[in-house]
Amino acid sequence: MGLNLFGCVCGQFHSSGEGMGMDAERVSVPIPFYVLEHPDGVALFDCGLPAAMCDPEESYLRALRPLGMDVSLTPAETVTQRLHALDVDPLRVRYVVLSHLHFDHAGGLRELPNATLVVQRREWEAGFEPALSQRYGLRKRYFDLGHEVRLVDGEHDLFGDGAAVCVPSFGHTPGHQSLRVRSAAGDHILVGDACYHAGVVESRRFPAISDHAAMNRSLESLLALRAPETVMVFGHDPDQWGERPVLPLARS
Ligand SMILES: [Zn+2]
Repeated sequence: MGLNLFGCVCGQFHSSGEGMGMDAERVSVPIPFYVLEHPDGVALFDCGLPAAMCDPEESYLRALRPLGMDVSLTPAETVTQRLHALDVDPLRVRYVVLSHLHFDHAGGLRELPNATLVVQRREWEAGFEPALSQRYGLRKRYFDLGHEVRLVDGEHDLFGDGAAVCVPSFGHTPGHQSLRVRSAAGDHILVGDACYHAGVVESRRFPAISDHAAMNRSLESLLALRAPETVMVFGHDPDQWGERPVLPLARS
């Protein structure tokens, strides 16, 4: 019994500091995703960037660059290679729980064809609604790939044993969710982009396009779930993926 939890970093996102709630003019932040090994199967929480973005001429990257956004991704950092490094066959991934539908979180889906997606219903519906998907930058080419989809409304216990529970945290996008994981490594809340990094817990510098009132409510409810030993793993926190990673990156 039990669950093993690993972290993987799938490239870096480059943007203005302002866009990430940071003071520097330009910043580079990690793009993490998470691997949950459960007796009933392997689940991922998010799946990083599309492998196609190893090519800097990928068309969406070309569209983002004039807006001040860019990524770097090497072949060794793709979801496929990160999973191989953990001895996990991408074809055997059973679930991909998506925090939301942005390309840096859903981008690896093409490499995980047998997975069932676990998404908040309102996020999935927003992805197919022209005005909302445009406003929030939800690109069907990265998530509408014919996977089985399990739409959930609010909290959802993924394996039915409390080891991994989806927690709605709307605001960054219409149906953003976080994941609470109880594993051999302790109690973690995988916050996703409900909070980009630890500094935002205090500053509440949320991204311009998001719903700030909803983000404040969501962050408060995530913080209220913490027990004294709970570790919050933020969406793009450079300090959590530096010298001392917040989660194991490899088998010990
Ligand atoms: Zn993100």
